[in-house]
Amino acid sequence: MTAPPVGRFAPSPSGPMHLGNLFAYLLAWLSVRSRGGKIVLRMENLDPQRTSRAYGEQIMRDLEFLGLDWDQGPYWQSERSGYYQQCLDALTAQGLVYPCFCSRAELHAANAPHASDGDYVYSGKCRSLTPQEAQALAKKRSPALRLRATGRAGFTDGHYGPLEQDLERDCGDFILRRSDGVFAYQLAVAADDGAMGVTEVVRGRDLLGSTPRQLYLYRLLGLRPPAFVHIPLLLAGAGPGEPPRRLSKRDQDAGLDVLRGRFSAEEILGRLAYLAGQLPKPEAATARELAGAFQWSKVPLEDILLPEELFTPPGT
Ligand code: GLU
Repeated sequence: MTAPPVGRFAPSPSGPMHLGNLFAYLLAWLSVRSRGGKIVLRMENLDPQRTSRAYGEQIMRDLEFLGLDWDQGPYWQSERSGYYQQCLDALTAQGLVYPCFCSRAELHAANAPHASDGDYVYSGKCRSLTPQEAQALAKKRSPALRLRATGRAGFTDGHYGPLEQDLERDCGDFILRRSDGVFAYQLAVAADDGAMGVTEVVRGRDLLGSTPRQLYLYRLLGLRPPAFVHIPLLLAGAGPGEPPRRLSKRDQDAGLDVLRGRFSAEEILGRLAYLAGQLPKPEAATARELAGAFQWSKVPLEDILLPEELFTPPGT
């Protein structure tokens, strides 16, 4: 018998939760709960400038309101620096980490945008600095730390199928720790999903192109990788003549803080489940009811334009 899956919610508490985040948590929850699995909650609050504990607490209250419960955590990434440092040390011991002194302006001027996610493929400028050169530069500026990315990494996404990247060409050497000392998302997410026993990652398809980098880290750190299932993004209609864009914290009407005043938990979940192909009509449903009939094959592949009327309260 195969062990029940372990999924996770990994919010970045940088503002109130919005429908786009919730869509991912709902599918993550339904996918594992429909198979009797467990959920880990991890707050990705590495960046002290952009995240706050208060938003994290609010996200937990919103998840509880919706009946999306979890079994382990919350873990706060801000409290796990010792562990990330150990992982960094393990990569350094393999001779794969080097300091990078390039400024943001230099990076943007010199490097080609990454094909899939708008990141930059680093040119490798600082890769060949001698220890003496690095020491001299470190007197003027504190460096970021980069990982040498070589070889290929691929996987079969549970929803979008196979993806393989040539790490050198498609990703370039990537940052493990920023120059201000903050550990980078790629390192922390792979280190944590690996350490927390996560076996299934469900998240927006904007992160599809990050997955080979994370798989490379799993390999180097000797961690067992989870299965990855990426999901379509929720898009907001833009002004006339503009293409729809990804829902974000700017879409205040899509924030849970606003929606909770207008709809019940079951109404919100039922509408999202309808968009995810799980219900024929946007009718109210509890998370448990939805888990009973959950099917990945019904989730669309195309991004989903949020119909404006769906989350507009009646009479407005
Ligand atoms: N913390 C990320 C976010 O909220 C998600 C990262 C992930 O799922 O790997 O967008």
